[in-house]
Amino acid sequence: MDKHYDDEVLRVEDLTVYYETAEGTAKAVNNLDLVVRKGKTVGLVGETGSGKTTTALSILRLVPDPPGVIKSGKIILDGMDIFTLTEGEMDMVRGYHASMIFQDPMTALNPLMTVGDQIAETLRIHEGLNKADSVAKAQEMLKIVGIPPERAKEYPHQFSGGMKQRVVIAIALACSPKLMIADEPTTALDVTIQAQVLREMKQLKENSDMSMIMITHDLGIIAQMCDEVAVIYAGRIIEYGELREVFKDTKHPYTQGLLHSTIKVQDRRGHLDPIDGTVPSLNKLPEGCRFHPRCKYATEECKRRMPELIEIEPGHYSRCLMAEKGE
Ligand code: SF4
Repeated sequence: MDKHYDDEVLRVEDLTVYYETAEGTAKAVNNLDLVVRKGKTVGLVGETGSGKTTTALSILRLVPDPPGVIKSGKIILDGMDIFTLTEGEMDMVRGYHASMIFQDPMTALNPLMTVGDQIAETLRIHEGLNKADSVAKAQEMLKIVGIPPERAKEYPHQFSGGMKQRVVIAIALACSPKLMIADEPTTALDVTIQAQVLREMKQLKENSDMSMIMITHDLGIIAQMCDEVAVIYAGRIIEYGELREVFKDTKHPYTQGLLHSTIKVQDRRGHLDPIDGTVPSLNKLPEGCRFHPRCKYATEECKRRMPELIEIEPGHYSRCLMAEKGE
């Protein structure tokens, strides 16, 4: 992904993040490159433990240290090289230039503050609004996410799960960040509420021309929300491209496996084809292609040599020896 674009909001280059644990070094993210352009949504998809959340935390410099260590890499967010900023500067970046929606709204909200105060606080810190203006804007934000503004005086425990997640979205959107990172934002919600919240997020994103990284293991959400998709396995991107291209002309055996293990309404197979085996332990990654122990096309060479991420068609990348050889 060497190409540069004029409208890049985020560029991640050669990011490597390890966790030093009692069991050894967990290689969570390895030499990862990623670009997000203005107004685009990039889906980061992969199984649990593939490095998606660590990538997101790195962008906001929130990887816990210790045990996390950024071993290498450069992250340019909204024109700023974030690894060169002070902690004080980073506090301003978070919320103003980029925000994150976490999986569980209960842990993201303060149970002792009203929801209105939580939104207003963000606006006072980042936008410098006075009390009256921040309260008025907080009510406006609640309205935008479909919550009656008069409920601003209520506490998180008075809201349902879906409403709480909408409050989290309102906080994340309050300062109109250039980049929103949504980490499994609907996993903790009922299916019907999930669909509603995703629809609203998409609408809000389109209205503000914001960019987004959508982290999920759910390909249905990727199909609904994203323009581009990066498939991540054992801390490395193994396929990347425009959504339609990756879904229609899937190149990597792992992406093929993910798609085959998803059920569709019109499916007549009567069974799923899950990918054999499990994600390798980050403390003990296999040599060569990290996917070889689970890949039905694996050869002896795959066990020895790590494939490069190569552009197989314009804008469509795959990390597989078959792709390298044009097979
Ligand atoms: Fe499978 Fe080999 Fe390609 Fe890895 S490099 S995905 S093991 S065929």
